[in-house]
Amino acid sequence: MEEEKTRDEATIVEESSLDVGFAGEVAREPGGEGIRKCYACGTCTAGCPVRRFHPVFNPRRILRMVLLGMRDQVLKEPFVWVCATCYTCQERCPQGVRIASIMTALRNIAVRLGNMPEIVPMQVKLLTEKGTLYPLDDFDNKKRGKAGLPALLLAHEDVGPLLQESGKPGDGAK
Ligand code: SF4
Ligand code: SF4
Repeated sequence: MEEEKTRDEATIVEESSLDVGFAGEVAREPGGEGIRKCYACGTCTAGCPVRRFHPVFNPRRILRMVLLGMRDQVLKEPFVWVCATCYTCQERCPQGVRIASIMTALRNIAVRLGNMPEIVPMQVKLLTEKGTLYPLDDFDNKKRGKAGLPALLLAHEDVGPLLQESGKPGDGAK
């Protein structure tokens, strides 16, 4: 029986499309510093809980793509947004590569280019205006009341001004 090809195996790299400065760009981004220490052992991918359910997501492969200079593919594909930032890979990497932090660095570069899932600007807006990442309403508090839980504030209006002071929320996410 012919062995089924995975998407990993089917990827063809066009040399002319590579950006040799991409690994350096990621290494200069906060969180991306140690990327060149990766020797592709695959320990990160073996332990990644997201990988188990999302076969296209593969941290070792993403790091290889960065090191090869596949800038467009990495920054335009939605897979860097799939990482759950659980840090399992980071705890296990024999080289001490901060993989979850590298994913954050990649997301930050992608956001500056305007490449992000629709939910991200929506969450930035909600965080700035209400101080929460998910909308809450009286219905949520009614359910909490029935469960014997205290009501939550529906908005934390002091959060927006704090974010404005500390780092311009939504930069690149407009
Ligand atoms: S565990 Fe570390 S060294 Fe191994 S592939 Fe992942 S990042 Fe690279
Ligand atoms: S931090 Fe991201 S890449 Fe690492 S194990 Fe968790 S989900 Fe996978």
